[in-house]
Amino acid sequence: MSNSSYNPYEIAQQQFDSVASKLDLDAATRELLRQPMREYHFTIPVKMDDGTTKVFKGFRVQHNDARGPAKGGIRFHPMETIDTIRALSMWMTWKCSVVDIPLGGGKGGVICDPRNLTEREQERLCRGYVRQLARNVGPNTDVPAPDVMTNAKHMLWMLDEYETIHGSRSPGFITGKPVGMGGSLGRTEATGFGVVYVLNEALKNLNMPIENTTASFQGFGNVSQYAVRLYQQLGGKVVAISCWNETDKKAYTFRKLDGMDIDALASITDSYGTIDKEKAMNLGYEVLSGEAWIEQDVDILIPAALENQITIENVHKISKQVKVICEAANGPTTPDADKIINERNIFLIPDFLANAGGVTCSYFEQVQSNQNYYWEKDEVLAKLNIKMTSAFKAVYELAQSKNLRMRDSAYVIAINRVAQAVKSRGWV
Ligand code: NAD
Repeated sequence: MSNSSYNPYEIAQQQFDSVASKLDLDAATRELLRQPMREYHFTIPVKMDDGTTKVFKGFRVQHNDARGPAKGGIRFHPMETIDTIRALSMWMTWKCSVVDIPLGGGKGGVICDPRNLTEREQERLCRGYVRQLARNVGPNTDVPAPDVMTNAKHMLWMLDEYETIHGSRSPGFITGKPVGMGGSLGRTEATGFGVVYVLNEALKNLNMPIENTTASFQGFGNVSQYAVRLYQQLGGKVVAISCWNETDKKAYTFRKLDGMDIDALASITDSYGTIDKEKAMNLGYEVLSGEAWIEQDVDILIPAALENQITIENVHKISKQVKVICEAANGPTTPDADKIINERNIFLIPDFLANAGGVTCSYFEQVQSNQNYYWEKDEVLAKLNIKMTSAFKAVYELAQSKNLRMRDSAYVIAINRVAQAVKSRGWV
């Protein structure tokens, strides 16, 4: 889903190169880590309900598995690109490393619009995706998960196809499964809650009591909905949320300055995270332009939709009141905008730390699936909080002691660990 001006893979490589220079990495390690180790490009023919056959394009990229099996979601999106998948697989490597879980980085995608596919067509697409990859993924090689526009139902179809091909039960092959079918309690909440665990830790360090803060969110999908929920439970006030409207082919921002009722809002939101405009107006919400989320006079901005959303074109619209940006989405800030955010002294929690709750809980799910023993929800969330908080502390302490930005500090920790693993294995 890159646009012509921003290529996420180039951004991911630029970010890596700048940290590799700081770390003085040798040439071979640099070359190995700045690109994926493996890529699969394939076609998926799907029998449509009307009797025709449609051929979809699918990808799976394994960036690096030195620290453990590759791990990463599968996205369904009409504008998916291989460079987006490459970038995301690379970010997964750093993400698993920064929270110190024994997994590498992978990512997959299919160019399709599931909103225009029936249930049965989606099932055939999921099964077709796994048929093309069954020999190259698995609990000890590469473990997929849900991502943009994929969900637990898709994961179970993929697991079923994988198990049918291999002739045995392998619940550790895929994560994000339905609870009761190998899924972990807490997985649905994990990414959004993880965002708020690190945000809360940041606010403590910045002497900003969470209950005195206000926030504006971009996106109202899985990540955003749970982040909003926990942020409000901890006392924060959400005044604006934007989301995409497929019928109008544009985004809108919904605003209520005295705070938003998350349950009421969730009840008028579809499964793709689109808030019903008319119903929202009836509930007293102002409906503003899609970009308005970034212009609000709030303390915290949380981009939780897509990549390349805070750009050189709109970064100047960020209010003087904003003290913290917590990147819940992957790659929401372009490097030129990032530079300006840094110059303005806005405290930015980088994506691969902020949204690592999902993969951390996926790791917990895999551990539970492999053991065939499932934990209570409180246990999962308590373990998640410990992992996220200690990762934040390590990044924050290094940033303070070496006078680094949080993004660079997180990269230094993550890349160092992977470079060490690559060296210890004798690859370079
Ligand atoms: P989702 O599909 O559930 O929700 C996406 C939301 O963004 C929807 O509300 C959609 O309407 C909105 N949106 C799309 N385009 C928009 C636009 N132009 N302006 C405003 N809103 C727009 O996706 P999700 O699972 O919540 O993921 C969101 C982001 O978080 C992605 O970048 C994803 O890669 C990342 N992420 C997700 C997880 C996870 O566990 N789901 C984990 C880590 C990172």
